[in-house]
Amino acid sequence: MNKQTIRFVWQWININYEDYFETSNCVVANPLFKRDLTSFDGLIKTILKNEAIRQATTLNFIASENLVSRAVLEAQNNVFINKYAEGYPGCRYYEGCEFADELENVAIERAKDLFKCKYANVQPHSGSQMNQAAMLALLSPGDTIMGMDLKCGGHLSHGSTVNISGMWFKSVSYGVDPKTGLIDMNRVLNCAIRHRPKLIIAGASSYPRTIDWKIFRRIADIVDSYLMADISHIAGLVVSGLYPSPINYCDIVTTTTHKSLRGPRGGLILSNNQELFEYISDAVFPGLQGGPMINIIAAKAVAFLEAKQDDYKVWGKSVIENAKAMVGRFKNKKIDVVSGGTDNHLVVIDLRGLGITGKQAAAWLDRCYIVSNKNTIPNDLLSAGITSGLRLGTCACTSRGLKKEDFERIADIIADILLEIKEKGEVSLTLEVNTRREVLSFADKYPICYNV
Ligand SMILES: *Cc1c(COP(=O)(O)O)cnc(C)c1O
Repeated sequence: MNKQTIRFVWQWININYEDYFETSNCVVANPLFKRDLTSFDGLIKTILKNEAIRQATTLNFIASENLVSRAVLEAQNNVFINKYAEGYPGCRYYEGCEFADELENVAIERAKDLFKCKYANVQPHSGSQMNQAAMLALLSPGDTIMGMDLKCGGHLSHGSTVNISGMWFKSVSYGVDPKTGLIDMNRVLNCAIRHRPKLIIAGASSYPRTIDWKIFRRIADIVDSYLMADISHIAGLVVSGLYPSPINYCDIVTTTTHKSLRGPRGGLILSNNQELFEYISDAVFPGLQGGPMINIIAAKAVAFLEAKQDDYKVWGKSVIENAKAMVGRFKNKKIDVVSGGTDNHLVVIDLRGLGITGKQAAAWLDRCYIVSNKNTIPNDLLSAGITSGLRLGTCACTSRGLKKEDFERIADIIADILLEIKEKGEVSLTLEVNTRREVLSFADKYPICYNV
């Protein structure tokens, strides 16, 4: 069925299709379409409301999170929830995929245009799955992979022993220089020469500095390895030209769509290499996944369009400026940050000088309505559950509309809280109450306007 026949069919049964979903009798007759969430499942409705209130009344500094636009939120909530579309546009295993094809093709074209590359796969359900698909495409079990050490800021899916990537492949890792906090490219080279990995992964979840894709490429060429960049955290900055793009240096680029990119939860795989991309396609489906979530792909497409707008680039610039502004305030208060600063959206506070843990810091901040996460720092002596670091990101609050002065003020508040934990082992009731009050005044000044 194409668009023309759709119009024809509606005329034929004498219904104005524009009005159908407003006035259809079936809405009244069939309880399936009659009961809305509020009347049918008050418990879930209440939980959704409570989460909306939590988001609205706290300040979100989780570096992997963001705040989607109303259009993205709206786009994800759609009737493709009902549709199976195993396969790819033009070659599906089910009938009725004509609009799924159209939608997925739009998403693919927008992704290619946005990241300036030849091939894009928009089907991965998440970041971890996209990386598994890349490994399934390029490797056999037992092959050697080399990624950044989790403790230095790498991601679980880059070869951590507790992840399938570290269990099914022989995984070796490089790290950062503990003094500078920068990726030690000599160590990368030596590690690559010693272990001859079949795949080198560049990219991180907690690295505030610029990654030199070109040197990674040179190293990959020396040891004849595939090079993959995982730009999950920084994709939104890359597409605005605010952070170097790896696309021309890598065999494969992967990214989540829900972090700085500001889209729905999901993954995306990009490449300029036709042959590899065919392996990737087969790895995503049927290798790893079943039917794609076309409903989510709709929201991905909307997010890709948003990322092309002029105001998106302005937003990205502010994200980086705001992170730098926070670093400046922490330095004023003699609080250390890993690598001494930031080039992106992310700041990692080194808490060792204060003698407090990331677990303490994040828990106390959360009590004061400032939401962040504990994070290991390079050469951390504490476990991932305790940590000596606190990771902060500026994407969500910049999306919310907070200005540079606001970020500076909040950095001061965070510093005061950390210093008080250092002095007293806890946050005083006065500081807690005052901070909550001030956070709520920011929340009031910069509301989150969704229909929930
Ligand atoms: C977040 C992240 C992922 C994983 O994404 P999920 O959707 O949580 O599976 C993969 N790689 C990097 C670098 C990330 O930061």
